[in-house]
Amino acid sequence: MDVPYFDLKAQYAALREEIVPALERVCENASFILGPEVTAFEKEFAAYCEVKHCVALNTGTSALHLAMLAAGVGRDDEVVTTANTFIATAEAISYIGAKPVFVDIDRATANIDPRQIERAVTNRTKAIVPVHLYGRPVDLDAILKIGADRNIPVIEDACQAHGARYRGKRIGGFGMAAGFSFYPGKNLGAYGEGGALTTDDDRVAELARTLRDHGSTRRYYHDLVGWNYRMDGFQGAVLRIKLRHLDDWTARRIAIAKMYRQILKGSTVVVPDDSPDAEAIYHLFVVYVENRDAVRTALEAKGVQTAIHYPVPVHLQKAYAYLGHQAGAFPHTEWAAERAISLPLFPELTDEQVRYAAEALVEVAGGK
Ligand SMILES: *Cc1c(COP(=O)(O)O)cnc(C)c1O
Repeated sequence: MDVPYFDLKAQYAALREEIVPALERVCENASFILGPEVTAFEKEFAAYCEVKHCVALNTGTSALHLAMLAAGVGRDDEVVTTANTFIATAEAISYIGAKPVFVDIDRATANIDPRQIERAVTNRTKAIVPVHLYGRPVDLDAILKIGADRNIPVIEDACQAHGARYRGKRIGGFGMAAGFSFYPGKNLGAYGEGGALTTDDDRVAELARTLRDHGSTRRYYHDLVGWNYRMDGFQGAVLRIKLRHLDDWTARRIAIAKMYRQILKGSTVVVPDDSPDAEAIYHLFVVYVENRDAVRTALEAKGVQTAIHYPVPVHLQKAYAYLGHQAGAFPHTEWAAERAISLPLFPELTDEQVRYAAEALVEVAGGK
């Protein structure tokens, strides 16, 4: 049986009749940049995330960058974040000229370890950026308390976690601001690049709106040196349609994750715990095995495609060599990077495909 790692074509086939007329509407109105579809999406996504403001942007990386600026992070300041993430989390810090201060994960969850944050904070720390990695919320109570006690803003990297909940409330409104990505492969994916900043803070929202559009609120009058971080009209139209389906897709992702957990239980495959305080939305289903590369090859031979998120932790990337971290600096993150396998996970997978992939993994990884 073939189990592809990921496939967006089936989803388009199901949505085609909604999407095509919406894209035509954008063409007919010639509202290619921002415009009514984007404004409507901002309202709908803010409501979905249970926050006051959503500012639509061109990418999730831009959202994190603007959040960093709104937090007042400056050159040579420090920002504490996880070494186990996609590089964009760190890049947004670097765009300011600030220093990413990486910390290790809690191996039980693969998410940033609040005790490590506490140790890494100094009087130059200007923000803390936890990542809800793979769609699984971080320990927000502990992290928000560290921030509140020291007056350091918390910025959620929510790029993989659209709709996830922590103690019953959607993530995206817990810190000063949050960054979301609508890269096509994300749970809520655009048909091109896309991102958003969410916040309950009027000042942060207004600053992000001004900075995304060349520092202007009135055309050709520029109060600040800004960026061109605007969302396209097409993306607003697509995202509005897809947002209406998101909870159904998420329910299917959760059901698939549950099947994986059931079949992998008692095997040698390590599956990270789900926090009892949180509802994960499973952007990815990542497990840990010994001899990872051989296991992936054997799965491939059985028709099961997999991926690795991420093969090289951020502190060991060449781009961050100047920070001087050596292998061994963050043992849990490095343990994970050597063993992680992302299993196929998208709503259109059938139960048969999920069962086949999970059973194949148990077999090739050394059984129960
Ligand atoms: C995708 C992603 C980003 C960046 O989003 P883009 O829209 O690709 O710029 C940032 N952080 C994490 C954790 C991501 O997965």
